Amino acid sequence: MTTRPFRAIIVGGCPVGLTAAHAFALAKIDFVVLEARNTCTPDAGSSLVLNPASLRIFHQLGLEEKARQASAEHERAVLVRYDGKVRKDVRPFHAFDESVGQRPMTFHRQDVLKILLDNLSPAAREKVHTSKKVVDVNSTADGVTVFCADGSTYEGSVVIGADGVYSKTRGFMRRLALEASPSAPVNAEKPYTAYYKCMWGTVPIPPGLNPGDHLDCHSDSGVSSMFLTGKDRGWFFLFGLLDAPTQDRRDYDEKDMEAYAEELKSLHIGPGIAFGDIWPTRHSAGMSNLDEGVLEHWSWGRVVMAGDSAHKVTPNAGWGLNSGIQDVAVLTNKIAALLGTTQDTEPTLPQLETVFGEYQEARKDNMQAVFEFSATQTRQSARDRSWSGRIHWLVEAVTTVIPKFDWFMIRYKGSKLVSAGHALDFLGGVEPFSGAMPWAHPIRPINMKT
Ligand SMILES: Cc1cc2nc3c(=O)[nH]c(=O)nc-3n(C[C@H](O)[C@H](O)[C@H](O)COP(=O)(O)OP(=O)(O)OC[C@H]3O[C@@H](n4cnc5c(N)ncnc54)[C@H](O)[C@@H]3O)c2cc1C
Repeated sequence: MTTRPFRAIIVGGCPVGLTAAHAFALAKIDFVVLEARNTCTPDAGSSLVLNPASLRIFHQLGLEEKARQASAEHERAVLVRYDGKVRKDVRPFHAFDESVGQRPMTFHRQDVLKILLDNLSPAAREKVHTSKKVVDVNSTADGVTVFCADGSTYEGSVVIGADGVYSKTRGFMRRLALEASPSAPVNAEKPYTAYYKCMWGTVPIPPGLNPGDHLDCHSDSGVSSMFLTGKDRGWFFLFGLLDAPTQDRRDYDEKDMEAYAEELKSLHIGPGIAFGDIWPTRHSAGMSNLDEGVLEHWSWGRVVMAGDSAHKVTPNAGWGLNSGIQDVAVLTNKIAALLGTTQDTEPTLPQLETVFGEYQEARKDNMQAVFEFSATQTRQSARDRSWSGRIHWLVEAVTTVIPKFDWFMIRYKGSKLVSAGHALDFLGGVEPFSGAMPWAHPIRPINMKT
């Protein structure tokens, strides 16, 4: 056993990597974050909806107030047809108030990143490095070495791959496992598959809409839309079924986006609002395929995945980052507990492997449920004319006329997934939100020893 202090090397400095930086700093575990881009707060992407389980963790990290100031709580849900005809216009989100004591909040994605980065302590902030593209990882029985494109190297005890859907760390983990044993159980080289594409963008809030609105347009022609409003802007999402499923990355350019916007200009994102009306008002837009999948193996040796590198869900239900925040909570709890038992000595490789196995075990059932919930929402909204598409149509036709159906789904289905959320056990504190559905993992009262 060596006496080197434990250090986690976190690859990727976007929402999951930065949440991990907060958690590790508060757990007093040494870490370093390596982000490939020259900033951790790019104005890329669109909105992020944080659910009550994530907001509870933000509360523990001391970020709740900042989060409230930057966001709008969910208020109104509207469903329209392609031609804008209203199918329903309801206010079901008080079901979250009743079940877990807090509604989801909608943010501009960049604001979430700024809240995370700007509120790190000065000592923790110094451990976040930009322009550090990780190009290789070496792992031995005693530790890890991470190599960056600029020639720098970082030594540590474990590597956490928070480097997103196209994670390089996931590939390094696979290679290391196969080098150690050609028959090692490993993930497929391309573990995710895309069935849908999505174009998103940021626009001013259109007339007639207010902060906290959530609009959906469902159709039977393989396309759908979602429109969310935050505190001071709105975001559109256009979903479309791909001609064929693919495991290959597809980069869309301006021309692709213009063509897609032209194709869907008469799709109504809300009552009286055709997509063609809001497209010219955009501040920014982007487009990608929507990969889907959950890894079979979340770790190997000293390398472990968290966030989109471990699982990728469609964004209709807004569970991608929320799941990554749960990963961070469980992983930090497990590592903190292990370090508490090993005191000043470095944990051994078998101890780390056990802890990483427990981490996957603790997350996998909830993640599978979230994955299926998200996939169903996407297929329900952008239906095709196959048998399964017709069943989705039928289910929607029936449920749309059931009074309080959305309230019921939130109160019993959505809230159940949310209330399974973990807290940061090493912090303790007072439960910020509570309702009729107890949290599966209550926040430990501050004066209770673990
Ligand atoms: C349109 C859309 C809407 C969404 N809405 C929601 C929502 O409302 N709620 C929600 O919970 N989720 C939502 N998601 C999902 C959410 O955006 C992701 O789950 C989340 O960004 C994952 O965070 P991450 O940190 O794991 O990965 P990323 O956000 O992808 O960050 C990975 C980081 O790693 C860096 N990186 C990559 N390779 C390297 C390398 N070799 N070396 C160093 N750094 C590297 C990247 O530059 C990047 O900064 C949405 C997704 C989409 C596409």
